[in-house]
Amino acid sequence: MRIRCATTNAGKLREFRLIFAHYGRGLFALEPLAGLGAISSPEETGDTFVENAALKACYYSSFTDDLMFADDSGLAVDALGGAPGVFSARYAGEEATDGENNRKVLKDMMREEERSARFVCSIALAQKGKLIATFTDDVEGTLLYAPKGPHGFGYDPLFYFESFGCTFGEAEPERKLLVSHRGKALARLIRHLLSESAIQ
Ligand code: IMP
Repeated sequence: MRIRCATTNAGKLREFRLIFAHYGRGLFALEPLAGLGAISSPEETGDTFVENAALKACYYSSFTDDLMFADDSGLAVDALGGAPGVFSARYAGEEATDGENNRKVLKDMMREEERSARFVCSIALAQKGKLIATFTDDVEGTLLYAPKGPHGFGYDPLFYFESFGCTFGEAEPERKLLVSHRGKALARLIRHLLSESAIQ
């Protein structure tokens, strides 16, 4: 069964593919929406991850007949009142790089000892402009004072995951996925798809 996703983020696409390979029993072909680069992106006006995921899934699914999903995810830091939250990708400015966003979080947290944080991911499934379902999950961690590790993307090098004893930036991608917000939210989506009688 073909399922489309709406991301141009290579880091995310790589993770989506790994998760479908892990949980999908070989039943799914995951493809980005054709011509995604030429479609103007909708404004992410939601106050929550789930609102933004639903908005993107409904918008992009009107460009294909295939089932498709979109995600919205980010980092919520307790000492920053949940920031950067839905602004995670553009915390240091509209075109900010991962490095710039990481530096801004570190600066905001410079004198803060309470460093608990979580990654959150919402996934919305839609077809032909209509929302079908949403799935959300998260993963708890602690922010370090400096980045560590070559893997992952975004805030991974700052995110220390207790049971691994290292940051997500140091963990092998496959290992991160089994415990991550995105891995768990996507596993919920895949379980939903597998439970649909048509593809059992
Ligand atoms: P989105 O593309 O609007 O969902 O923005 C997601 C942003 O949140 C990314 O650009 C990263 O900055 C951050 N983020 C989300 N998931 C992760 C993750 O698994 N690791 C590191 N950063 C993440």
